[in-house]
Amino acid sequence: MNDYHVHTRLCKHGEGDVYQYVEFAIDKGIKELGFAEHIPIPGLDDPDGRMDSKDFAVYINDIENARRQYPEIKILLGLEADYLPGYMEYIASFIKQYPFDYIIGSVHFIGDWDFSNPLYKEHYETFGVDRTFCEYYQLVREAAMTGLYDIIGHLDIPKRYGHKAGIDLTGEIDDTLQVIKRCGLALDVNTSGLRRQVQELYPSQTILGRAFAFDIPVVPGSDAHKPDEVAYAFPETYALLQKIGYHETCVYEHRVRKTIPLYL
Ligand code: ZN
Ligand code: FE
Ligand code: FE
Ligand code: ZN
Repeated sequence: MNDYHVHTRLCKHGEGDVYQYVEFAIDKGIKELGFAEHIPIPGLDDPDGRMDSKDFAVYINDIENARRQYPEIKILLGLEADYLPGYMEYIASFIKQYPFDYIIGSVHFIGDWDFSNPLYKEHYETFGVDRTFCEYYQLVREAAMTGLYDIIGHLDIPKRYGHKAGIDLTGEIDDTLQVIKRCGLALDVNTSGLRRQVQELYPSQTILGRAFAFDIPVVPGSDAHKPDEVAYAFPETYALLQKIGYHETCVYEHRVRKTIPLYL
């Protein structure tokens, strides 16, 4: 099994360094471990939300060292890059500067509201839960169409604090999946929701069923922010994907996708 979505202490809301994650992943039997640290964005006011630009060299360096030190596991240089309409030029040029294996595109913000941050979860009520979901899916479609990303991160994350839309979102979701398919992206099957109040995968089993019908590839990730969260709930998640019909997952190297059989 592979885990394509882990963070480190460099993001300032995580624990552990690259080497600790790698050692834990080896113990868990992971074949490919993908670091997907939050992109540094100078000037964005979320001090604990992401890596500092000055730490980026440390990140790259640690990954290169770990590759030499642990040849028994494949280590990938990934990135979790936000979709932030006001910062796209910067984000695009940042992505071009480094030899990334893949880019996860995640929507965490609606305007300047970080709806994925527990500090601002009260704002769902003011903004409106239905509106949050609709604007979120619209932003995901825009993100997919930028062509900057390989994988859409934790689709359906606005449910994180247990909020449920009062309207039927099937149309929104299907439109979004269609765009994701047309643009050639894969979905992050993110187990962090199973560690949170919502107790569900991102995306939900229902959405994964729709994604399978649209023939959208999937890439499992734990979104670990501590070394012992690597491969969190992977046996159940792999079994669920198989039950839905998935027999394949994908891997990336230098931003080229390959399909491999889905097995633990
Ligand atoms: Zn994070
Ligand atoms: Fe995220
Ligand atoms: Fe993440
Ligand atoms: Zn994430």
